[in-house]
Amino acid sequence: MADYDYDLFVIGAGSGGVRAARLAALSGARVAVAEEDRVGGTCVIRGCVPKKLMVYASEFSHVLAQAEGYGWSKADSRFDWAKFLAAKDVEIGRLSGIYASNLAKAGADLVHAKARLIDAHTVELVGKHKTVTADTILIATGGRVSIPDNLPGIEHAITSNEAFHLEALPKSIVVVGGGYIAVEFAGIFNGLGVETTLVYRGPNILRGFDEDVRSHLSEEIEKRGIKLIVGTQHTSIEKTDAGLVSRLDNDVTLTTDQVMFATGRAPYVEGLGLDKAGVALTEKAAVAVDGYSRTNVPNIYAVGDVTDRINLTPVAIREAAAFATTVFGGKPTQFDHELVPTAVFSQPPVGCVGLTEGQARHRTKNVHIYMTKFRPMKEAFWNGTERMLMKLVVDGDTDVILGCHIVGHEAPEMIQLAAIAVKMGVTKAEWDNTCALHPTMAEELVTMRERVTPMQTSMA
Ligand code: NDP
Repeated sequence: MADYDYDLFVIGAGSGGVRAARLAALSGARVAVAEEDRVGGTCVIRGCVPKKLMVYASEFSHVLAQAEGYGWSKADSRFDWAKFLAAKDVEIGRLSGIYASNLAKAGADLVHAKARLIDAHTVELVGKHKTVTADTILIATGGRVSIPDNLPGIEHAITSNEAFHLEALPKSIVVVGGGYIAVEFAGIFNGLGVETTLVYRGPNILRGFDEDVRSHLSEEIEKRGIKLIVGTQHTSIEKTDAGLVSRLDNDVTLTTDQVMFATGRAPYVEGLGLDKAGVALTEKAAVAVDGYSRTNVPNIYAVGDVTDRINLTPVAIREAAAFATTVFGGKPTQFDHELVPTAVFSQPPVGCVGLTEGQARHRTKNVHIYMTKFRPMKEAFWNGTERMLMKLVVDGDTDVILGCHIVGHEAPEMIQLAAIAVKMGVTKAEWDNTCALHPTMAEELVTMRERVTPMQTSMA
């Protein structure tokens, strides 16, 4: 080890890289981290955190409407985008600073540069005319937005990167895609008063989620005012005096101030010199790793979105912790990728853990479904129309709950807790044995006694 400059060199100071660097440094290892952008990675700088702040900002329009139903006089409220952006940027700066100072406190060196592998133990710090060596190297470079590069006029479209820094809110926008980012940003813009159209190429948004979640959310976001156009995609975008003209392959033409593409993210492997070190990639150009996050090169590891396993911040953090425990804690540890809860911060939001009904039926014949849709008390009181969906997918033979799916206010918060029980292998009988807490929305989760037939779900 002593022959190298560092015991560990981490490429990328995002959620995964920072966690691994800190844990390794705290265990006594000599650690350096290279970051070409701001410390914090996608989650803090241009992902989860600023997105959630924007969701909070946009939700107030719904809350103001509710407030009137509760007796509050109509507020003369206007949203100040510039004021919000400035406050958001201060907060992001604060969090980025905490990440950097936590690295320093742990004793890790931070290098502001792009790092490129020269061989399995040597890293070039691009632009610094410097190379460093390390015994172990961790690639934690995350992902990058991916947009179709062959679409005429794609240069006029923005991505989520730019959406965080728009000079002014557009009056109208077309959001393209049906995944997390498209659905979340459509909700944000709609809530902030932007006339929003969501264009998705498939039959229904959120492919991969439970069918009832998908159909319920579609209905709810349309109720909130988002225009949803499915089964079509862009053939071109043209910049005209009237705005950006989106031409779709169903012959529909939309003219809006802005077009945002949210068509996925790809592992960020460009320019890393992985070929020089002999690091193998998967078919989807992610860094290929085993259960210990180790690549085919024994001293090089990778965690987080660059490995394209489950692309979520807490997963990257847990993969990083398992890596540090394995390599610097002397205890071989794998992160268990089963039953990871996930949330879509749409409006209303979605929270899920475990199998969808479709996945469960694929795996076992005897599946029991419990499902309820209802208007929560808070909504009913002001004559709001929003309905909540709760669904449990149960193994009919063992009674074990295989999946829990919620659409509605605070669904992500509920799912985080439900995930504990589901991860522990709770049965439906044990779940039902939990006394309800009244009056809450979540009590409905433990009071679903009647099974629904397949004909009553979206699987029919
Ligand atoms: P997703 O993979 O979730 O969705 C991409 C969407 O774009 C899909 O609907 C896909 O359609 C569509 N699409 C892909 N290519 C094209 C194309 N050429 N033309 C038209 N549509 C296209 O990616 P996101 O960008 O939304 O998010 C990236 C990842 O980041 C997520 O998968 C998630 O892991 C993570 N994330 C997590 C969040 C959270 O936890 N709340 C929030 C934001 C991101 P199709 O379905 O047909 O393939």
